[in-house]
Amino acid sequence: MDKTALYFSTLDKERVKCELCPHNCVLDNGQVGLCLARKNEDGVLLTLNYGLITSIAIDPIEKKPLFHLNPGEQILSVGTFGCNMKCPFCQNWEISQEIAPTRRITPEQLVSIAVSRKSRGIAYTYNEPFIWFEFVLDTSRIAAREGIYNVLVTNGMISEEPLHLLLQSIHAMNVDLKAFDEQLYKKLAGDLETVKRTIKLAVENSVHVEVTTLIVPGFNDDENMLEKEFQWLASLDKSIPLHLTRYFPSYKYNVPATPVEILVKFYNLAKKYLDFVYLGNVWDQNYESTFCPSCGTLVVKRVGYQVQVVGLDEEGRCAKCRRRIVRIL
Ligand code: SF4
Repeated sequence: MDKTALYFSTLDKERVKCELCPHNCVLDNGQVGLCLARKNEDGVLLTLNYGLITSIAIDPIEKKPLFHLNPGEQILSVGTFGCNMKCPFCQNWEISQEIAPTRRITPEQLVSIAVSRKSRGIAYTYNEPFIWFEFVLDTSRIAAREGIYNVLVTNGMISEEPLHLLLQSIHAMNVDLKAFDEQLYKKLAGDLETVKRTIKLAVENSVHVEVTTLIVPGFNDDENMLEKEFQWLASLDKSIPLHLTRYFPSYKYNVPATPVEILVKFYNLAKKYLDFVYLGNVWDQNYESTFCPSCGTLVVKRVGYQVQVVGLDEEGRCAKCRRRIVRIL
């Protein structure tokens, strides 16, 4: 059963305005929003994906990617369909840009699955969790009451009021920062200032935040622009982990994969500003392991999804110099 959306206003002639994300879609009766997930039915905005899942799995938390939260842990991961951005290089386009086959689940059932699979957390991932807002809100509240932590893997495109509400039951986020240029964001149907605000508010609300930038040749591989991104992240907190990931051809974007030497160049640039930088989809332990920025000790060794915690105390600090490295929930 479709559920009434939480954030919309009613206009004239049965039109509605969705107020969940900065697109603020104005929809005539019968029309569906840009995200494919919200529909005006007789002047009421309905969510079309409440409790509908396309993918559910137990994944390494490093796959989100989250490297500084409970390293080596497995987490129940779940997604629906739809997205409020239109990236031509989307790596999950089958569920983000199309209405994929689904099965229905309630928030209580999802929390029960987490408990029965001995997952201490739930990750809302695979497609954009914000356009599944009402389901994520209901589930994350129940999960938090049961002592289960909640993770969003998100593009950060949400309006301020719903973000504040959801952050109350969210413990960690990985936010995709797709470029550091407003015009480039517009090409993806996104809004840079909104994404920056989401990252900033999450940090200010003590949510654990990591950031991912997929380096796409010919799109966002401008060194000056990336340096501004790294400086901005450092101005918020230089210990925000940054994942620079390698693009491979996907969906509507066919240029060859990002050369590894370009990624290494940006890795070295980011390390000038940030304490924790990683390369994704490169499979080189030198770029995916964690070293203490204060004393240089190897603290978490990663080879792909094989994770060995080798130099942390039980509170997530460097065992040698006691600098805080990871958050343990
Ligand atoms: S959530 Fe969907 S329907 Fe609502 S404003 Fe954003 S894109 Fe439009």
